[in-house]
Amino acid sequence: MSRLNILRDTPPVGPAFAAFHPVQTEDSRPTRLIDAFGRRLTYLRVSVTDRCNLRCTYCLPEDADFPFGDRDFLSPQEIETIVGALVRLGIRRVRLTGGEPLVRKDLLEIVRRVKALPGLENLALSTNGTELARMAPALKAAGVDRVNVSVDSLDPQRFREITRRGDLEEVWRGVEAALAAGLDPVKLNAVLLQANQEDVERLAALTLGQPLHVRFIEMMPTAVNEHLQPGAFVSADDARARLEKRFGPLIPTEVGPRTGPAKAFRFRDAVGTVGFITPLSHTFCADCNRVRLTSRGELRLCLFADRVHPLRPLLAAPDPDAALESEILRVVQEKPEEHHLTQGNYGNLVSFMQIGG
Ligand code: SAM
Repeated sequence: MSRLNILRDTPPVGPAFAAFHPVQTEDSRPTRLIDAFGRRLTYLRVSVTDRCNLRCTYCLPEDADFPFGDRDFLSPQEIETIVGALVRLGIRRVRLTGGEPLVRKDLLEIVRRVKALPGLENLALSTNGTELARMAPALKAAGVDRVNVSVDSLDPQRFREITRRGDLEEVWRGVEAALAAGLDPVKLNAVLLQANQEDVERLAALTLGQPLHVRFIEMMPTAVNEHLQPGAFVSADDARARLEKRFGPLIPTEVGPRTGPAKAFRFRDAVGTVGFITPLSHTFCADCNRVRLTSRGELRLCLFADRVHPLRPLLAAPDPDAALESEILRVVQEKPEEHHLTQGNYGNLVSFMQIGG
């Protein structure tokens, strides 16, 4: 029986989690990156390319054309210098994303350079998983700690329809390779759509018996997915209610300040966790600890901000490190207090592939 057939069966019940207690979170790590609203910025998402080998309906148009070539994207050395300045100032966790990071041939060099930055505590990768079966051991060896794989459906046909060209078997081999390579945690990201409602329970059921962590993400409106709006939107509250009806109460895994946008829970006796990322129904702007670096070297302080701050030109300054640090310290004060997505304002964002989700 193939792996996917196993996934289709009734989920196994996980080992007893007898002494499970929620973890107390705290974010007291020193950082000089404190914005005008007192938010401590310790998390950076780096888009290493705009290109992607899939065309997910909510993310890219079917005939997506990528205007920029490899030379337009930051080189591994440029990424090291810019991320290095951010880490010196207080960034502690970095996620490499895209586009699809694994389409970059020099990704392992980027990983090695970023991982070597003193002060960095954790290096994560977001991927669609298409190249993960082949790359997982090398990514782990180069320094990736954790991985998020986008899996919007566990049905091969639906998976292909949502991604427009993805092969679920191939991606699932990637998930297994990530677990085998010791990447920890391995999270599965699923955007909540009308099209994948049948998958919500099956995805969550994976967490009962396996060390997999499923994150359901509310679909954020962008210019690319206007054709899906508003009919495709499913709230995390709806998904959660369905899951609790089927599997019982979801128990919070953390108490204390949020350390990221996801609220994480666990079913009783489950091995993995289920989380919800709710940019629309429950905004998390007040706890936002993140900034983004685009593939062409601009700092984006809010996913939905109207403007970005070019950092690449500073690499030509007589003292690039000092120039970067002073510019970053200056512009973080411009981080907007909140986004206005719920009022239908998504700034100048066309698609997440521009800035890495
Ligand atoms: N290619 C990688 C991947 O598939 O994870 C990294 C880039 S992708 C843009 C990062 C995440 O953003 C994915 O989990 C994807 O599902 C999510 N995403 C893309 N567009 C989105 C949207 N409009 N709303 C919510 N999540 C979105």
